[in-house]
Amino acid sequence: MSFLGSENVSSEKKEIQLWIPFCDARCIFCYFPTEVCAKDRIETYLNALRKALTRYSETVYTRSCEFDEIYFGGGTPSVLTSEQIRDLLSHSLKHFNVKKEHIIKIAGYTYNFDDRKLKAVANYGIDQVDLGIQTFNDELRRRLHLRDDRRKVEHTIKTARSLGLYVSIDLMYNLPGQTSSVWRRDLEKALELDVESVDCYPLDVYPDTILAKQLYTSQLPPVGDILTELGMYQDAFNTLTTAGYKPTCHNRFSRIHEDFEKPCFEILGTGAGFFMGHLGRYSYTDVESIGEYVDSVTREKFPIAKLAIYSEEEEMRKTMMRLYIRLAVDKDKFRERFGKLPEDVFPEAINKLRGKGLIEVDDRKIILTRLGDVWRANIAWEFGPRKKKFNC
Ligand code: SF4
Repeated sequence: MSFLGSENVSSEKKEIQLWIPFCDARCIFCYFPTEVCAKDRIETYLNALRKALTRYSETVYTRSCEFDEIYFGGGTPSVLTSEQIRDLLSHSLKHFNVKKEHIIKIAGYTYNFDDRKLKAVANYGIDQVDLGIQTFNDELRRRLHLRDDRRKVEHTIKTARSLGLYVSIDLMYNLPGQTSSVWRRDLEKALELDVESVDCYPLDVYPDTILAKQLYTSQLPPVGDILTELGMYQDAFNTLTTAGYKPTCHNRFSRIHEDFEKPCFEILGTGAGFFMGHLGRYSYTDVESIGEYVDSVTREKFPIAKLAIYSEEEEMRKTMMRLYIRLAVDKDKFRERFGKLPEDVFPEAINKLRGKGLIEVDDRKIILTRLGDVWRANIAWEFGPRKKKFNC
């Protein structure tokens, strides 16, 4: 509370995240704490969400911030009606200082993004739709319990683009029974549809998902081994970079100019299951249960479940771990902030990674090599936290 009562002094770019923890059905690989829509609960939840946003907006810290981006995440924000999206957006624009040059993005699912809703979001000034496509292959879509077919997916992408919206899509690879040629056809389809960016994710099998159970009981064909997965990543890298997209962020290949600017490192968000809060030296996650979230906000509390405060050592680790999102480590800035060079703090990790040809180090910066790009998650973990403190 004392932090929120202090003035913002950081020059990091800032984002507001509005978290919508509802979906209209469950994809079999999903591990997010989302609820299948109960329409009557949505309005109650949105009232609580607006109330929590207002509460944040009244703090000294937030009043002294200017925000660069608004992001509707979740869950599936496109389960909301156009009017609910409009009200939430105007509430945020009214209560927060949002820069004149801002970006607004909404995540969604083609199944519930009909033409009318797409037109509405374009009219509200939303710039980009992030669509979880996963695959264009109808057989795989049925296997993953994705709710619509290739035709609807293509129609939604084409409509969104024709309305002037940027379209960013997620594709997944190494799916059960997915061959390399099916994966390549997915990549080619993304190129044919001329989307602005493609996030390529390898399938992660989380315990307790329907997918894990179906794989375990052989109801689904197995997923490929690590070499298959790496081969599919290389296919994506080669296909998309040859077509003019550049790698950026976690798993993104993009041709959107803003995707290559410094990302928003301060994220003020709220919602049941929201997990990416980051303000100053604090990171936080909200409570997962929708009932608990509503209850907490109604009792005039911030609905935070976990709060971590980064020590200076953790801040240094975090700076190095940004290699994962393909950001260079600026050595001068590192020294300015921490009084030491990265090589003084992490000599072993840096020597090891440089020796393996995974990173390149010169007088000014540390960057991933082409080989390191493939292994960037492992590289980040070489600088990973050894322990974390949580104050609940
Ligand atoms: S749409 Fe996204 S959040 Fe919803 S069930 Fe599918 S993967 Fe999970």
